Amino acid sequence: MAQNERRLFMKTLILGVAAFASAPLLKMQRAFAGNPLAKLDDPLVKALGYVANAKDSKDRKDKKANCKSCQFYAAADDKATQGKCQLIASGEVLAEGWCRSWAAKAKK
Ligand code: SF4
Repeated sequence: MAQNERRLFMKTLILGVAAFASAPLLKMQRAFAGNPLAKLDDPLVKALGYVANAKDSKDRKDKKANCKSCQFYAAADDKATQGKCQLIASGEVLAEGWCRSWAAKAKK
């Protein structure tokens, strides 16, 4: 009986260690995969004139303007390549993207 308990303890211990060790890997995988991006064929996205690369827009007047510098943009951190836009609910936008509703982020 004691041997069975020891086996069960060892199995539980091994599974626990494996789960603990794989947690950071799963987190990294999620970070690299990112959340789904806004669909370019979404009617709202089209209406806003959103482009994945600000340089591709003919409407952009401020050559430094992009989603990253927009007040409606929120990302996990400054290095994030994509984040949430308060105006677009169908997915995240790219930091280098832009749309006609761009508004400068308030200075801190
Ligand atoms: S409102 Fe701002 S963050 Fe949203 S798509 Fe337009 S430029 Fe990007």
